[in-house]
Amino acid sequence: MDVKEVLGNRTAGVTFLLLRAIWEMRGVASWEHPLSSMMLRLRCCHALLGLPHVHKTRIDQCAFNLCPGDCRYMRYLKPTAIVTVGCEHFPERRCNGQHEHIQLLGSYRSVRNGVASTVRRSHEAGVYSKPLCRALAALHGR
Ligand SMILES: [Zn+2]
Repeated sequence: MDVKEVLGNRTAGVTFLLLRAIWEMRGVASWEHPLSSMMLRLRCCHALLGLPHVHKTRIDQCAFNLCPGDCRYMRYLKPTAIVTVGCEHFPERRCNGQHEHIQLLGSYRSVRNGVASTVRRSHEAGVYSKPLCRALAALHGR
């Protein structure tokens, strides 16, 4: 099993404790996770989602221009759940079907500033696109 996955599973419960603590303090927070994640099916997640002013929204990150560095006309679909606490829900935005998707599998060679490297697509797609950063910042009033 992947080390990151093991650490993620160990800290999963803490995520919901923190979000609950922020909610109790009337704070504001957002948390995103892959839509297919088992974490979203946990009882503690459902309990959190049952609280007032806690919302879950689905977005497709292709709608926020998440694209591979080697093929700018394609997009990573990456269905994602965004849970917001203490604020309005994150606006749902789904794929508009106007582009092709590429799988989050494998890697490609890249040369930037004369330096060659291997880019893993799963790692690349783990970085928020600028449009998604702007939307999250707008949600949090920044
Ligand atoms: Zn799409």
